[in-house]
Amino acid sequence: MNIGILGGGQLARMLAQAGRAQGVNFMFLSPEEPSCAAPFGEHLLADYDDLTALKKLAQWADVVTYEFENIPAQSIQFLEAHAQVHPSSNALAISRHRVTEKQQFATLGIATAKFAAIESLASLEVAVEDIGYPAILKTCTEGYDGKGQRVLRAPQELASAWHDLGGVPCILEAMVPFQRELSIIATRSKTGDKVFYPVSENYHREGILRLSLSRPNDPMQPLAEALINRLLDALSFVGTLTLELFQVGDQLLANEMAPRVHNSGHWTIEGARTSQFENHLRAIQGLALGEPQVTKSAAMVNIVGERPVTLVHSQASFAYLHDYTKAERPGRKIGHLTLLDETGAADGLGFTQRVATVLALMGEDTLEQALLTGQIQIYSAS
Ligand code: AMP
Repeated sequence: MNIGILGGGQLARMLAQAGRAQGVNFMFLSPEEPSCAAPFGEHLLADYDDLTALKKLAQWADVVTYEFENIPAQSIQFLEAHAQVHPSSNALAISRHRVTEKQQFATLGIATAKFAAIESLASLEVAVEDIGYPAILKTCTEGYDGKGQRVLRAPQELASAWHDLGGVPCILEAMVPFQRELSIIATRSKTGDKVFYPVSENYHREGILRLSLSRPNDPMQPLAEALINRLLDALSFVGTLTLELFQVGDQLLANEMAPRVHNSGHWTIEGARTSQFENHLRAIQGLALGEPQVTKSAAMVNIVGERPVTLVHSQASFAYLHDYTKAERPGRKIGHLTLLDETGAADGLGFTQRVATVLALMGEDTLEQALLTGQIQIYSAS
């Protein structure tokens, strides 16, 4: 089986790592060199709209997938005309545009923050009257890891925010006073079978995910599953889908969806019987899905900017280290660590202390303190 992937970053790398065990071959189309996925397949160095490269990928691959949303719509349509592509161009088109995405949620009765489409500074001034302050202005496309967003707290900030974001089409959203940020990840097969992973509880700093905790048996799990289930069915989705949610009281508001494997699900590699990556590959190949079963709680801490790998090896022998081999750069995700709630550990440390140790090694002092003081609680899977 040959699988083509648009993108050559860490998600492509972890998909390929999962697929190699099953004898799958990979080709990555990406304009970036070096590609951290390249050791696991062939790297086609080209732009995403390079028709010759797209054709080569389509001819070689039995099925094509992608690791991120910012792929030109024409490229996916071209691929669909020449190969099998999952998830579909429809799912991609909806998720790459924040307004279309929120409209899709509304159509399916999935609640969101109040929002408005913004085409000009004048329309922003009108919309903010209705939505109120604080609000958040986001570019409709191309935003990730908190980029392309401005928080608005007063009328005098509107013009500079609009210009800072480049005067491009935006969405204005009410700021949600959430208690928790959650995400749910699910996979749907070609025959419509589905698996749902336990929700992840996510903590960001400077717009970048720092910590995800798996939450088996979370009280919000049934509602989260019901919401993502509507999307899976409405889109006849094939592959792994992620839905990011804000919890307010016992309500869940949808923030965004990603038609792909997700950073908040990296803990499934060691923490679930079948990872999000393996299930994505199974789904797009038309195979039966693997059980997502989780027996232990898991925590995932991102390695951002710099690589304290020696420290991790010397002080956190209990952590599963994933180094994407990317060059260090401020704000860049270059690896992650996963911890499982394993009892009977030789060092006698509890799970909470272990997660706190890793957070300290990563310089996440506020999160470390939140754990140690019980503001963030870790509970067991059983
Ligand atoms: P996004 O790129 O939409 O995932 O936003 C990045 C992060 O900004 C989210 O994970 C939240 O922490 C925060 N955020 C985004 N939208 C909102 C909102 N409407 N209300 C409150 N926080 C938000």
